[in-house]
Amino acid sequence: MKKLIYTIALVIAVSITVTSCKSETKDAKELLKDAAHEVKNATKEAGNAVADEANKLAKDAKEVGNDVLDATKEAGNAVADEANKLAKDAKEVGNDVLDATKEAGNTVVDGADKLAKGAKEEVEKVLATYQCPMKCEGDKVYSKPGQCPVCKMDLKKVK
Ligand SMILES: [Zn+2]
Repeated sequence: MKKLIYTIALVIAVSITVTSCKSETKDAKELLKDAAHEVKNATKEAGNAVADEANKLAKDAKEVGNDVLDATKEAGNAVADEANKLAKDAKEVGNDVLDATKEAGNTVVDGADKLAKGAKEEVEKVLATYQCPMKCEGDKVYSKPGQCPVCKMDLKKVK
C-alpha cells in the first residue's frame, strides 16, 4: 500500500513536472514566436520608415531637379531671346550699313558721272576747232570761236 501511494505520488510528480516543462516550453516557444513577430514587425516598420524617407528624398530631389530644369530652361530661353535680339540688331545695323554704302556708292557714281561729263565737255571744248564758213583762209582753223579776219563772218565749229 505504501508502495502504491509512493508510485501514485511519483506519477503525479512526474506529470506535474512534464506538464510544467511542456507549459514552459510552450511559453518559451510562444515568447520566441512573439519576439520573432515583434522583430519582424519592427523590421517591417523600420523598412517602411526608410522607404518613406527615401521616397520623400526622391520626391525632394525630383522637385529640385525640376526647379533646376525650369531655371535652366528659363536661362536658355533668356539667352536665346538675347541672341535673337542681338541678331536682329546686327541685321538692322547691317541693313543700315548696306543702305549707307549703297547711298554712298550712288553719290560716288553720280559724282563720277558729273566729273566724266564735265571732263568730256572740257575735252570737247579743247579739241573743238573753228573755221570760216566761206573758207577765206582755206583749211585754216582756230581753237577759239571768233570772226573771220577776212570776211568778218562768225567762225563755225568744225568737227
Ligand atoms: Zn571768211
